Amino acid sequence: MSDTWKQGTKAVHAGTRRSQYGEVSEAIFLTQGFVYDSAEHAEQRFISSGDDEFIYARYGNPTVKMFEERIAALEGAEDAFATASGMAAVSGALTSMLKAGDHVVSSRALFGSCLYVLEDILTRFGVEVTFVDGTDLAQWEAAIRDDTKAVFFESISNPTLEVIDIKSVAALAHARGALVLIDNVFATPVFSRAFEQGADVVIYSATKHIDGQGRALGGVILGSRDFIRKTVEPYMKHTGGSMSPFTAWIMLKGLETMGLRVRAQAASALAIAKALHGHKAIAQTIYPGLESHPQAELVQKQMGAGGTVLSLDIKGGKDAAFKFLNALQIGVISNNLGDAKTILTHPATTTHQRLPDDQKASLGITAGLVRISIGLEDETDLINDCLQALEAVN
Ligand SMILES: *Cc1c(COP(=O)(O)O)cnc(C)c1O
Repeated sequence: MSDTWKQGTKAVHAGTRRSQYGEVSEAIFLTQGFVYDSAEHAEQRFISSGDDEFIYARYGNPTVKMFEERIAALEGAEDAFATASGMAAVSGALTSMLKAGDHVVSSRALFGSCLYVLEDILTRFGVEVTFVDGTDLAQWEAAIRDDTKAVFFESISNPTLEVIDIKSVAALAHARGALVLIDNVFATPVFSRAFEQGADVVIYSATKHIDGQGRALGGVILGSRDFIRKTVEPYMKHTGGSMSPFTAWIMLKGLETMGLRVRAQAASALAIAKALHGHKAIAQTIYPGLESHPQAELVQKQMGAGGTVLSLDIKGGKDAAFKFLNALQIGVISNNLGDAKTILTHPATTTHQRLPDDQKASLGITAGLVRISIGLEDETDLINDCLQALEAVN
């Protein structure tokens, strides 16, 4: 691979390892183990393994390695570790670097399972966690201390799509020597410039845009070679959250088309947001790419596009939101995102059901809020489908 290659070329070729057969499409090495030529050779492997030498699939596997190298090249990271799911990546990145007595600052608006890891699990092992409103720099500044080891946030929050200023939060964290870990799912690897803006570790649920077709769970942790190989790898390989070779193959093939898919989805999301903005049945259309988004300027600076997800606050609360969802003919009701199929979610009764009402209110998760992950269907069909379903609300 050449460092001068652009994203599109890297997405197709980076990390390729060909076997002696010279296959064009990446091989699936569906094997848990590897044979050694001799006992001496086995002994040597366990002392130190070369780049193309593997020991056990939980430690590494050629197909998984191809995926790690390809996504690292795309993201501009030194290295990557692939995991069994997005949550294996989030929990692995945090747990591998933290110990009892450490302090973490996190934004409060988090994916439900991320909140559980920070609020319930890490604290059980003696890590102190302070939650802040991620969009309020004064709160970050007040919360980050000299003994803060890490800050954690989702660069675009779910489901209200608030954008966190990576550069400013990273500057505050780095001034106190804390690492910046970002769950960057909503920004997608296509629009991510997180490392450029100061992230130390970037985490993706590959289940979302990397697969992009709703088939497999996966995740990835990206960072410096030292962090990935000395901190993350020992933890992951011994605790068992590694990615399976079959999943890695799905994700590799997903990366080849990710740029095309995500750009098309983001263009449709913008068109749909514009078409629905101001509709009489909608109290608020939230899309980071709209000029009316409160952080529109930051969005353009940080990502250059608004992503593939939009949220609508439908007038009339839960009844109206349910009527809208049930009247749709194209979009499906589910809870994944980044899929080729348009997927709609009612966060208050599903993904965020567990939150007490006051927390829902403080996060802006209203009874009428519907999250829409825009797929690859025809944009005009999607707009018409939303419009006819909004008619059903009235
Ligand atoms: C989906 C998601 C996760 C978890 O990923 P899984 O692959 O489902 O484990 C974590 N963070 C965010 C922001 C997500 O959207």
